Amino acid sequence: MAQTQLQHAREGTITPAMERIADRENRTPEFVREQVASGQAVIPSNHNHESLDPMIIGREFSTKVNANIGNSEETSDLKGELEKLHTAVHYGADTVMDLSTGTNLDEIREANVAHSPVPVGTVPIYEAVKQAESPEDITRDLLVDVIEKQAEQGVDYMTIHAGVLMEHLPLTDGRKTGIVSRGGSILAQWMEENSMQNPLYVAFEELCEIFAEHDVTFSLGDGLRPGCVADAGDEAQYAELETLGELTRTAWDHGVQVMVEGPGHVPMDQVAENVEKQQEVCDGAPFYVLGPLVTDVAPGYDHITSAIGATEAGRAGAAMLCYVTPKEHLGLPEKEDVREGLAAYRIAAHAADVANDLPGARDWDDALSEARYQFDWRRQFDLALDPERAQSYHDQTLPGDNYKEARFCSMCGVEFCSMRIDQDARDADGEMTAIEDETDLSESLAAETNLPPVGTHDTSRVPEKIEIDGVTFTPESSHADD
Ligand code: SF4
Repeated sequence: MAQTQLQHAREGTITPAMERIADRENRTPEFVREQVASGQAVIPSNHNHESLDPMIIGREFSTKVNANIGNSEETSDLKGELEKLHTAVHYGADTVMDLSTGTNLDEIREANVAHSPVPVGTVPIYEAVKQAESPEDITRDLLVDVIEKQAEQGVDYMTIHAGVLMEHLPLTDGRKTGIVSRGGSILAQWMEENSMQNPLYVAFEELCEIFAEHDVTFSLGDGLRPGCVADAGDEAQYAELETLGELTRTAWDHGVQVMVEGPGHVPMDQVAENVEKQQEVCDGAPFYVLGPLVTDVAPGYDHITSAIGATEAGRAGAAMLCYVTPKEHLGLPEKEDVREGLAAYRIAAHAADVANDLPGARDWDDALSEARYQFDWRRQFDLALDPERAQSYHDQTLPGDNYKEARFCSMCGVEFCSMRIDQDARDADGEMTAIEDETDLSESLAAETNLPPVGTHDTSRVPEKIEIDGVTFTPESSHADD
């Protein structure tokens, strides 16, 4: 049987995927292997996903961003789904989750895997619900069959909500927003109706065997995550986390790679604590957070409320951020929403990497800053996180080719461009000359366009008096002369 990346790593083997990742991440292949062997990082790479360019998820590597794609009952054509995949990858998604709940699920999933250079994740319970037609009719065998089929189709990682247990459910009583995870709410309904334990928990070792065979990575779902800041960090959330820690170790015992999902909605001051707790309870398995939103008051802007929390989560050690679009809580995202969500999350991920001083992370910032100071507009656009957006905003006011080398833009204008003024004030070695009493200011480089030079006050230009509506003011006093 082909081995998982975890099994290879434990045996001391550096796989081609590890070599490729080392190259992408400015790390040595041996460091990649060690991180995978200890479970601190995962390489989601199903043996059947041939178009994959391997990547890694772990806190010692660049923070990754996931984008959710997929159809619904209302929108279900293959071409449209592949377009969503293309959009997500184009705007920088490191992984995609196919959350389709409409029709042609197999066809769409297989096409996504066949065309995706990034790992594809799924939440198999959605398909199980479709097949059973109602949540309470799902059976353990149906769940296992759906999961096995998706593993054979080449899915790289699956969200499995095996940590929601019967005994956790009463802990959600009194919450402001109950159970907000789709998988969590489906399983809670199933357990209530059938008075039986979560079938994914019961079948977990069987799932480990399937995952080991195909090298599918667990993404242990947080079915009891808080759905508002008031519910964050409650007993239900942390009780489930303890079970996720137990399941992490079970999966490792079977040689299966694991990451763990996290909230959701968390006030800013609790974000780091959430990450630290997960790292402790789950022995450092990579943490994959959904946001978190740090406030609930901004529907329409939840890509921003959540990117703030995601930045802090990344800084504190989260390894992957699941993007949120401006449509969160309001509707199904469209192409422009995907773009906005990915931009917000790539900023969050990169800001966290810079703060964590990841090897090479700040090189990008430095290169862009240098291009900016050199007024190399074309290079500045090329280096921008969203080059098309950067150029189109610049060109709205200064579209001509001549402005691509201009020493200003329309933000401050030619006269007040601080970088141009700064450069003019420096000598050929880039040093600032001290202005002394005897300095002839009319000789300064800035004098031609900027009179008086910045930081000086040319009193010869101050009028002796000003008259407004018949009242006379003098420079010595802001009061009108009596
Ligand atoms: S005009 Fe202002 S914003 Fe534009 S390049 Fe100069 S300093 Fe920067």
